[in-house]
Amino acid sequence: MRAAVLKSPASIATRPLEIRDIPVPTPGTGQVLLRVRACGVCRTDLHIVEGELKPLRDHVIPGHQIVGEAADGRRYGVTWMAGVDGTCEYCRRGEENLCDSPAFTGYTVDGGYAEFSVARSDFAIPLPPGLDDLETAPLLCAGVIGFRSLRVAGVQRGERVGLFGFGASAHLALPVLRAWGCHVSVSTRGASHRKLAESLGADWVGSERDRPPNPLDRAITFAPSGDVVVTALSSLRKGGVVAINAIHLDRIPEFDYDSLLWGERQIRSVTNVTRADAHDFLQLASEISLRPKVTVFRLEQANEALLALKNDAIDGADVLVP
Ligand SMILES: [Zn+2]
Ligand SMILES: [Zn+2]
Repeated sequence: MRAAVLKSPASIATRPLEIRDIPVPTPGTGQVLLRVRACGVCRTDLHIVEGELKPLRDHVIPGHQIVGEAADGRRYGVTWMAGVDGTCEYCRRGEENLCDSPAFTGYTVDGGYAEFSVARSDFAIPLPPGLDDLETAPLLCAGVIGFRSLRVAGVQRGERVGLFGFGASAHLALPVLRAWGCHVSVSTRGASHRKLAESLGADWVGSERDRPPNPLDRAITFAPSGDVVVTALSSLRKGGVVAINAIHLDRIPEFDYDSLLWGERQIRSVTNVTRADAHDFLQLASEISLRPKVTVFRLEQANEALLALKNDAIDGADVLVP
């Protein structure tokens, strides 16, 4: 099969992914062989290819947003979560997203930048009918984590919800909030993002530091900035929640406890996803016809797809098709 293989991480400008012919992988016990129909391209893939995430194997096939077809014709989605141990304290508590020894698709195990990929059968999420291969791929990372953020924030139908930052994850969360009848405000840098938020039905749109006009029940921050977290916190009603959807923050600036956190306001982080998150989100995506805009690259163009992502040269999500 054809596959894009990473041997040594390097700047994407040097085209570190080698397009090679390698044997089709053999599924072991409890695994399923998937013919890859589409695989999304994510910023985390770029971090792996460029070595910002340190290599854990001597070579790896990236890609963790896989839409694949099993031998029986059924379609499955594979996310960043390739598996968990099932035995640690967190797995036993039903909090598998916090597992002490998780496996990650396209990082600790081979991913979907290839014609075939092997997944753990119990981590291959059956896809509801009606979802398009290409449009489903971007839902499997940015989409699912955005959905989990709404859960972590405790969003209820009809509430006032603020999104701070408006990248891939936020723009897939907005249609979900609309479907739940929420009043949505979007605070974001960049006129094009504000325009997109308006076109997707945001009720109020402002710049990065703007506070929405009415106190929020829930806020989700997407920028790697602690200042944005404090802005979000200062936008909450008593009892409101800020969920931080970012792996790293520059820092959390000092803030006034009495006026900003007192009143049972909460700050929470969002870490990985569970299979239930992926399952429930894909079901909802099918029901509300969530259709992200995609730009298609051939597998042979894997380096170009990542370069385009790095240069913000793409409107919508990158998807590789073998
Ligand atoms: Zn991702
Ligand atoms: Zn575990």
